[in-house]
Amino acid sequence: METAEIVGVGSELIRGETLDTNTAEVARSLRPYALEIWRTFRVADDVERLARTARELWSKTRLLVFLGGLGPTPDDVTTEAVARGLGLELEEDPEMLAQIAARFERMGRRMTGRNRKQARKPAAARWLANPRGTAPGWWLREGGRDLVVLPGPPDEWRPMWESLLPQLGLPHSGFVRRAVKTFGLGESQIMELIADVWDRGVTSGIYAHPDGVHLTAEGEPRAVDGWIAAVAERLRDHVWGYDEDTLPALVQAWLQERGATIATMESLTGGLLAGLLTDVPGSSKSFLGGVVSYSMGAKARFGVPAETLTAHGVVSGETAAAMAGAARELLGTTYGLATTGVAGPDELENKPVGTVYVGVAGPDRVEARLYRFPPLGREALRQRSAFAALAYFWSLQR
Ligand code: AMP
Ligand code: MG
Repeated sequence: METAEIVGVGSELIRGETLDTNTAEVARSLRPYALEIWRTFRVADDVERLARTARELWSKTRLLVFLGGLGPTPDDVTTEAVARGLGLELEEDPEMLAQIAARFERMGRRMTGRNRKQARKPAAARWLANPRGTAPGWWLREGGRDLVVLPGPPDEWRPMWESLLPQLGLPHSGFVRRAVKTFGLGESQIMELIADVWDRGVTSGIYAHPDGVHLTAEGEPRAVDGWIAAVAERLRDHVWGYDEDTLPALVQAWLQERGATIATMESLTGGLLAGLLTDVPGSSKSFLGGVVSYSMGAKARFGVPAETLTAHGVVSGETAAAMAGAARELLGTTYGLATTGVAGPDELENKPVGTVYVGVAGPDRVEARLYRFPPLGREALRQRSAFAALAYFWSLQR
């Protein structure tokens, strides 16, 4: 199979100051195509080494993508380096220069001489317009092969790449990739349940995420659909979604279809749950608001009965349920959703790190559920708990 090679450019990527998500995202976007990707690269802002990388990779690949290093500062050398590696001359395009200058004018700023180099590309290359930034990308097609040079910021290169990709004429694999998404079971428990289905006719994968374990299958569409159905059948109530589904989007869509609303009261998640709910565009229709009631005093002030707190403790099903009810009261919503638990590093009320209660209050019922997560570390536990709240809510409503 022909290959694709992807290079993230920037010394900050190597030092770990910026996490390179670009190469992975491009690799992911190439999944539907019959191109092998068995490595990706990060290379420092160094003309010689970048030129050598470009030369070596271009000699034997169907598609070569560079991301980053197209800015105006002296450390942005990708265009110069790639051209050097391929033995191409750069030329300044007066039209592009005028466009960049006009853009600066619209923003009320003056273009500096430094931006001049952003109007240079190899003569045979085509510009890739960048409506969200000053640095255009460029694309060179040579002997049925493609070289693509894109800027680093994801919000800038993403739309450029999306509109370019279909034009590259890449060979399709005919394969599809699908996912089943679960919450509440560990990877080994899942494997016990699906062992005999696991590699039936597809390339399967299992991955733990903050929103639960995802199982993926890649292969012929019929085989993949069959695998997904068989796995979902085994995992039943633990399945919350498929493919591109996300818990916040599912919950929001469900609420909006019913004209229902929700409010949150969060303790150990400290606002993460509200953050997830507001990830979804248009969420203000159904998510009316939330409070972080971190201390016992705040819980009481926001409407959790003091007797509940003293009798059962802050980390208890009773308190979680009362918090959900209080959130519902406070904001006058259809549902209230609450989290309380022990994020660590220390125990609380003799309950071990990872003890988490989620409370849900609705028009008819108030209930709570206990989760016992392993001591994952504060950040991971908080994340996991916020998703647990959404998964629990979702499981009750279906
Ligand atoms: P550059 O085009 O190299 O000047 O990059 C500009 C900005 O894009 C950087 O400051 C990062 O915020 C972002 N960026 C660059 N490369 C990457 C990458 N490989 N992954 C994620 N973000 C990146
Ligand atoms: Mg850079």
